[in-house]
Amino acid sequence: MYIKLPFLGFSSQCMYYAAILLLTHSFSAHANSEQASTTSVTSVPTVTYQYLEPTSAQDKKAMQLIKQSDAIKMVSDISRQHVQFSPQLTIVFGAKDGPLYDPEIHQIQIPYQYINDAMERFSQNHYAETGVDEVQATLDTLAHTLLHELGHAFIADRDIPILGKEEDAVDNFATIILLNYVDNGADISISSADLFAFEDQDIDTFDDLDFIDEHSLDIQRYFHMLCLIYGSDPDEYKSLLSEIDDGSRQEREDTCIYEYESVSRNWLRYLN
Ligand SMILES: [Zn+2]
Repeated sequence: MYIKLPFLGFSSQCMYYAAILLLTHSFSAHANSEQASTTSVTSVPTVTYQYLEPTSAQDKKAMQLIKQSDAIKMVSDISRQHVQFSPQLTIVFGAKDGPLYDPEIHQIQIPYQYINDAMERFSQNHYAETGVDEVQATLDTLAHTLLHELGHAFIADRDIPILGKEEDAVDNFATIILLNYVDNGADISISSADLFAFEDQDIDTFDDLDFIDEHSLDIQRYFHMLCLIYGSDPDEYKSLLSEIDDGSRQEREDTCIYEYESVSRNWLRYLN
């Protein structure tokens, strides 16, 4: 059993940064937030959607929200233009488990509860004060999560070599697609990163399962996403890293620029 307490200094510092960064980005990166849009497309869809019957009023609201969201249009456009699937990939909303990709049936599954939980977290953390309300932030997170799962499907479909943790690779896949192909992709990524920070705040102690989990820790996922966003446009997103202490900030900024260029270049090799 690993207890977070021995890392208290580090953790507290991280969360201090997180809190500052949350406030900082709220007024900069989200300032000109617009709905997702990509260029028009004419080719056939390669992703289809299924909506299972909701069993509660809350789930029904979640379903309606998803159906009307730009996240669905964005994923469809990205799939048509850059990540084609044949046979079609099915995305099922209202599944029991997930979010996940099931390679056996070539299907992404998203529970309605995922939407409800994200909405609650953004609401509890008064996210609307950042200029992005909890509905938009939840849909941003849905967009990133759909792309994350699309990444798993893409890797399986194309047998793409992954030399490291696949979960990190598909986090990168989602963020790189947003930053390269979606007009307000950085804003979507920032909301998604913030959800990881909120989830981290709920953790009092780490145990072995946290460290052996296939995913990186929430707080690592949070900082890595901010790092890629910064790296994609250091002038625009300088404030995302500005609260890191002077001693290490320059080094981290340089590393983030390198990481963005490396991850972007390598994923774009596989995208149309
Ligand atoms: Zn995953």
